[in-house]
Amino acid sequence: MEYASIINFLNKIGKIANLNDSELELLKTPQFIHQAELEVSGKKYPAYRVQHNNARGPFKGGIRYHPEVNLDEVKALAFWMSLKTATADIPLGGGKGGVTVNPKELSVEELEELSRAYVKAFYKVIGPQQDIPAPDVYTTPEMMAWMRDEYEKLIGEKAPGVITGKPIEAGGSLVRDIATALGGVYVLEEAIEKIGLEEKTVAIQGFGNAGMNAAKLLVERGFNVVAVSDSKGAVFDALGLDIEKLVKIKSETGSVINYNSEKISNKQLLELDVAILVPSALANVITVENAANVKAKIVLELANGPTTSGADDILHSSGILVLPDILANAGGVTVSYFEWVQNNEDNYWDAETVKSRLKEKMVSAFSQVWEKYSGSEHDFRTNTYVLAVKKILDAERARGNL
Ligand code: NAD
Repeated sequence: MEYASIINFLNKIGKIANLNDSELELLKTPQFIHQAELEVSGKKYPAYRVQHNNARGPFKGGIRYHPEVNLDEVKALAFWMSLKTATADIPLGGGKGGVTVNPKELSVEELEELSRAYVKAFYKVIGPQQDIPAPDVYTTPEMMAWMRDEYEKLIGEKAPGVITGKPIEAGGSLVRDIATALGGVYVLEEAIEKIGLEEKTVAIQGFGNAGMNAAKLLVERGFNVVAVSDSKGAVFDALGLDIEKLVKIKSETGSVINYNSEKISNKQLLELDVAILVPSALANVITVENAANVKAKIVLELANGPTTSGADDILHSSGILVLPDILANAGGVTVSYFEWVQNNEDNYWDAETVKSRLKEKMVSAFSQVWEKYSGSEHDFRTNTYVLAVKKILDAERARGNL
């Protein structure tokens, strides 16, 4: 993702939302950009922390380890975090971090050294009331625990709220493992009620953390999951797949395609005649080439960026309701926020409490967008973006910065 696409995006949203030049400039400009070089086993790795906006609360966003990480991308991702936290209506801003490294080439010891080096480089600009990182691509709960430990050593006091996505034993929250899927399901249930959808067939692309948990949760709620896929292909059964069996097969054989039923392609999965389509794998899978063939009534975007902007217009004109990623997959960051609250309160909630608070937040986030969308000439996604941008600007205005 390039920052130039954010600028284009903001120019478009700016026109719809009637933003003036200073409002646009504020949104286009990250508040702080921090860079460092981390040295591990004699090799140097570029590292970044971009803090886009903190008008609504401390910066919040993951740290990714990937060979293609670069400053332009981290800036773009930090911007999306500001929009996501505003959409989820949690009192946090947007930030992102990254290290340009192929983590598969490092030993566990080197990964620990790298994670501690990241904190040594940036500890003065992160903190429970400043900027709260989390896991992202190729960073894990274990790494978050190392980072918390390093931060506390450097500042000389306990600060569990400096980072989220920690293991339970290191101050993590219950339910974080299924939070993205569960948050998405809560949003979906609200949307179904609003549009009065009665059919319950579902196709899910991707069978990892988001897709597999969504499949389990939907089946528990009486939905009929007829197709799922992973990178090797898709399986289909019009009568419904046995999700428990699929989970077992995926863990034993590495792929869902070893399940005994009709095999279809990932392309066919997206075009199935189902009520609900849940892209939960990759970006840019619904494009201008296949959008006209999508038959679902609702698209629940658990993946980040699964629909291209050209495809989005086609889905909208076909009357398909797209629940956009920054709302549909915001359950993860919402439970990260709960983790931070629990750390700050030094009071830990049981799983039922986390789930019921997650439901409350997701239902409220959905309802705020729905209210704006009803009667609007723009699609649901555009309304989600406009609302998020307005919330950030309202917070800036209230502080006297606009
Ligand atoms: P994951 O690595 O656990 O799972 C990804 C799944 O996608 C795997 O089953 C993989 O086999 C499958 N896949 C890969 N290539 C595919 C292809 N070409 N066609 C079909 N399936 C393919 O990842 P995840 O955590 O479930 O994340 C999935 C998406 O959800 C990503 O876009 C991620 O950014 C987004 N997301 C996840 C979370 C979270 O908390 N896990 C939060 C927000 C957004």
